[in-house]
Amino acid sequence: MPKTERWQWYVEESAPTEQHHHAIERVYFSGRSPFQQIAVVETPVYGKMLILDGDTQSSQGDERIYHEALVHPAMAAADDRAEVLILGGGEGATLREVLRHPGVARATMVDIDGMVIDLSKQYLPEWSAGAFDDPRARTIVGDALAFMREDRDRYGVVISDLTEPLEDSPSNPLFNDDVFRLIKARLTDGGVYVLQASTAAFHNASLHAKMARTLRRHYAHVASFFTHVPAFDTDWAFLACSDRVDVAGLTDAAVDAYCAQLRGENFFYDAETHRRLFALPRYLRRMLTATGETF
Ligand code: SAM
Repeated sequence: MPKTERWQWYVEESAPTEQHHHAIERVYFSGRSPFQQIAVVETPVYGKMLILDGDTQSSQGDERIYHEALVHPAMAAADDRAEVLILGGGEGATLREVLRHPGVARATMVDIDGMVIDLSKQYLPEWSAGAFDDPRARTIVGDALAFMREDRDRYGVVISDLTEPLEDSPSNPLFNDDVFRLIKARLTDGGVYVLQASTAAFHNASLHAKMARTLRRHYAHVASFFTHVPAFDTDWAFLACSDRVDVAGLTDAAVDAYCAQLRGENFFYDAETHRRLFALPRYLRRMLTATGETF
């Protein structure tokens, strides 16, 4: 029997003509919520994985790369970390990373899909590692856009850990000029907004560049950064935005001092990793500074 026939496969399309095949050892859940198709599976290489609408959201093997990259550069740069707002972030790993900083008085996470949160608690408890039960955590099941329209609080850090803004995704309405303005209104003066911002793969970074161009209309500093996430089989990009601080320019000493304040040990992020995250290859720098589409 050929090797491939021994397995069932989860096939992720990174583009209509590009695929990554993950062998499936076990399916914990497969079904639909009112918002999206959800699967929780186990693969031999990456362990458990959360898949939404056919896209890998995170894997047990490397989720700390993604979540530490998303959370810590922004938190290190912020001078006010008491109130943190997370848009999306259903698995609870972004919440976990935020709460590792003792200066956080309250972390509010707003995810539209209670089923993703419940399935994550049931099958992926390693991701939240108790964060949902931390007295500083406030978990709200609801649309992040509706929440921000009602909410009057201000946050030193806003972290967007939403699904890709594809046409039929519930995150799609959160990527436009009006919403970027609304997010800025929820930040304290000089606060930091960081978002997962699609792939930085050389052939496919146009959505990332579009986000960066749009956000430059709103912030004095918009720093693009990326890291390879093996389970995504691509370079994953983020944008860190602020009127006060250029997150890319944090010194080694500032990153070291911040990391020393965190509870527990980092897997991925430190001063050397910070420099690597923000050192962009020429093709990406050129894409980011070229004129082009905006939201
Ligand atoms: N790491 C991820 C990726 O690669 O795209 C993002 C992780 S997280 C699971 C994405 C979360 O965004 C999901 O739990 C989804 O329910 C949530 N989400 C999507 N649209 C939303 C909205 N309008 N308001 C709040 N949460 C939303």
